[in-house]
Amino acid sequence: MQVDLAPSPNFNDRKCPVDMLVLHYTGMETGKVALARMRDPASEVSAHYMVWEDGRITQLVGEDKRAWHAGVSSWQGDDDLNSRSIGIEIVNGGHDVPLPDGALPPYPDIQIDAVIALCHSILASHAIPASRVVAHSDIAPARKTDPGEHFPWARLADAGIGLWPSAGPEVPGAAKLAPGDAGEPVRDLQVCLRAIGYSIEPTGLYDDATRLTVQAFHRRWLPDALTGHCDARTLARLRDVYMAVTASSDPSSTSSSSSGSRAS
Ligand SMILES: [Zn+2]
Repeated sequence: MQVDLAPSPNFNDRKCPVDMLVLHYTGMETGKVALARMRDPASEVSAHYMVWEDGRITQLVGEDKRAWHAGVSSWQGDDDLNSRSIGIEIVNGGHDVPLPDGALPPYPDIQIDAVIALCHSILASHAIPASRVVAHSDIAPARKTDPGEHFPWARLADAGIGLWPSAGPEVPGAAKLAPGDAGEPVRDLQVCLRAIGYSIEPTGLYDDATRLTVQAFHRRWLPDALTGHCDARTLARLRDVYMAVTASSDPSSTSSSSSGSRAS
């Protein structure tokens, strides 16, 4: 794996060891523009790596340093995620620069191959549990939509990076929940999202924060839904993901991953 260097001044010292991996898309016209922005001191943003559409990899910040990619964010009860994560920007226009027909620009296979190789290298040298390989949209659901519902998470999981549970049966008799609803079923939904890692308070009210968090869950785990409403499919997927997260955090579980991504 060849990695070019293009140092960014936008970093400082970590406050804790690395135990997360955050994936982004650049959301700009070109990789060149995104790289220039991440190297501009005035932008105060960066990432450790950027992966181009043709599979080239550029490193901007050393893995031992705190790059500025996550912003205000939270996962599994932690914040200051910049201090504990490695950030990869993947060149893709995403929702900000869609194709002329409005579709999201696809991620080329050669680019995803490079992302997989880079993730393998990172996971080999840091103890990052599979449930802590996340989307920017997972850790900041109200602000971020990247790397987008078109990102091939299943392909990464096939390569031993992160989780992608197979789909179990639908939940029989599941009630539909939507914004404005209130009560125990809403609280149960919030508790489940929180147990997976999403930052959400179990208020029992299906408020806007809940809708946005369910939408982030859809974007990551049920990408053809994206409604932000909770239906039988959403509940089934929540169960699948919750069980995968729990299993990956159980030290007695065996992992087929060769990447060292098993929970510590
Ligand atoms: Zn991002």
